[in-house]
Amino acid sequence: MPIPKSHELTMRCPVCFNREIDVLMSLVDGRYCCLKCSYNGTEADVRDMYKDIQKKFKWIGKRVTIEDYDRL
Ligand SMILES: [Zn+2]
Repeated sequence: MPIPKSHELTMRCPVCFNREIDVLMSLVDGRYCCLKCSYNGTEADVRDMYKDIQKKFKWIGKRVTIEDYDRL
């Protein structure tokens, strides 16, 4: 795999990010490739996976009280 240029390292790997590892991907022939876990996909694939990851942080800005837990 060729060494990526710095401007090609623009998106984080969604698979690694889900495991709380921050790895940037390189762009090879229009597909983003992870250097760590060998995930590869188009920009649309990566953005879809970002949306899934964002579900995990849906309530990050909310304060959840004991009463809220009881209602869940
Ligand atoms: Zn990865």
